[in-house]
Amino acid sequence: MDITIFGSGYVGLVTATCFADAGNDVVCVDVDAQRVETLRRGECPFYEPGLAELVKINHAEGRLRFTTDAAEGVKHGQFQFIAVGTPPGEDGSADLKYVLQVANTIGQHMTEHRVIITKSTVPVGTCDKVRAQLASALAARNAEIEFDVVSNPEFLKEGAAIADFTRPDRIVIGVDSDRAEKLMRALYEPFNHNHDRLISMDVRSSELTKYAANALLATKISFMNELANLSEKVGADIENVRIGIGSDPRIGYHFIYAGCGYGGSCFPKDVKALVHTAQQAGIKPSILSAVEEVNERQKTVLFSRINAHFGGNLKGKTIAVWGLSFKPKTDDIREATSRVLMEALWDAGAIVKAYDPVAMHEIQKVYGDRADLKLCDSAEQAVDGADALTIVTEWKQFRSPNFARIAKLLKQPVIFDGRNLYDPELMQRMGFTYVSIGRQPIT
Ligand code: NAD
Repeated sequence: MDITIFGSGYVGLVTATCFADAGNDVVCVDVDAQRVETLRRGECPFYEPGLAELVKINHAEGRLRFTTDAAEGVKHGQFQFIAVGTPPGEDGSADLKYVLQVANTIGQHMTEHRVIITKSTVPVGTCDKVRAQLASALAARNAEIEFDVVSNPEFLKEGAAIADFTRPDRIVIGVDSDRAEKLMRALYEPFNHNHDRLISMDVRSSELTKYAANALLATKISFMNELANLSEKVGADIENVRIGIGSDPRIGYHFIYAGCGYGGSCFPKDVKALVHTAQQAGIKPSILSAVEEVNERQKTVLFSRINAHFGGNLKGKTIAVWGLSFKPKTDDIREATSRVLMEALWDAGAIVKAYDPVAMHEIQKVYGDRADLKLCDSAEQAVDGADALTIVTEWKQFRSPNFARIAKLLKQPVIFDGRNLYDPELMQRMGFTYVSIGRQPIT
């Protein structure tokens, strides 16, 4: 099938590459000329496990092409995916500027039937706006061409995006015509072969499903973080509580880890956008507002503890930070807790020695070459000569480090662990001061 994808970011490029890998003919349109150049060389502009290889192969075999020419993209695919960003506006609502720009472009150039699919995360009612934008662009040139608008939210997780796309838990489509449903079913057939995972529903429910999923996941995290803070105060251990509640199949073990807050390009912005949608609809979003508030606070917990340990005087102290991406297996640092921490440390006059397996170039793009940030070549180099070590992202390689060496390299054996990676008893035996989340500190 001929497919066009607008937006070659984490979602657009993964979608495009997986469709191409299933034999489809895919054209990607992006306004970022540099990104398009990189992709045309068969290179991947960001880190996602397995993606670079697939881009290279499918590009070389001619099934995956890249352009900045929107007209070429509209001409190419019967299926036109919109996978551009929907960043938060000032009031927290999702900014639909880029989505509607693409809809307008499609309306300006289409000459025959097109299925326009919103893959971006967009608030309830957006498909109606896309439809109106298309209709007005067509009317402006006196064209009468049929089209379908479909909602098809994406549930992939960065770090596991290829597997999530090719072996999805579910494929949600919001459609309002049989024709659109049949076409979407045919399109997704390669990823729906084993058993039917396609859930077809009305457009508005589909749009809301994506926000409901992300907001519930964010709620689980904030709930556990609130319980973690309580555990510390009442002498409990959140890790024991986690195991205790996870054993109930109605609760389950997934996604109930306490930590130093969630980040990324989705949870924070999607919770904010859902709060806004609820307010617009006259509903007080009590739970959602609390989820966000708890998370904002949780992102500051590591700094407060480091600051308290050093008696409120961090001037000239060097803090090693392990993990900069918002979660492991990605170089995405959007809304990452590491940034909140580092900025607070810098404000307090501390120096940061940081290490991340893949996200350092992204951090450098944001913070440049500041004197109080030293990007290190290895986890051990970050620790060397530092006053304390902080773990912000639970990359696998941080799980079982050489503690004896770390103790030697640090000025004092102090670890602030934002992800509860280590056994407090082991830390005690090794002579560390060890402060984690929702557990009693080892001093
Ligand atoms: P991204 O910022 O990585 O990529 C967006 C791309 O769109 C950029 O390359 C940008 O240059 C391009 N773009 C902007 N305007 C354009 C236009 N008019 N025409 C063509 N290209 C244009 O964003 P992302 O992380 O891929 O997210 C895209 C959408 O998918 C968002 O709505 C997001 O909420 C949603 N989503 C993201 C994830 C995720 O894990 N990243 C998961 C599910 C859903």
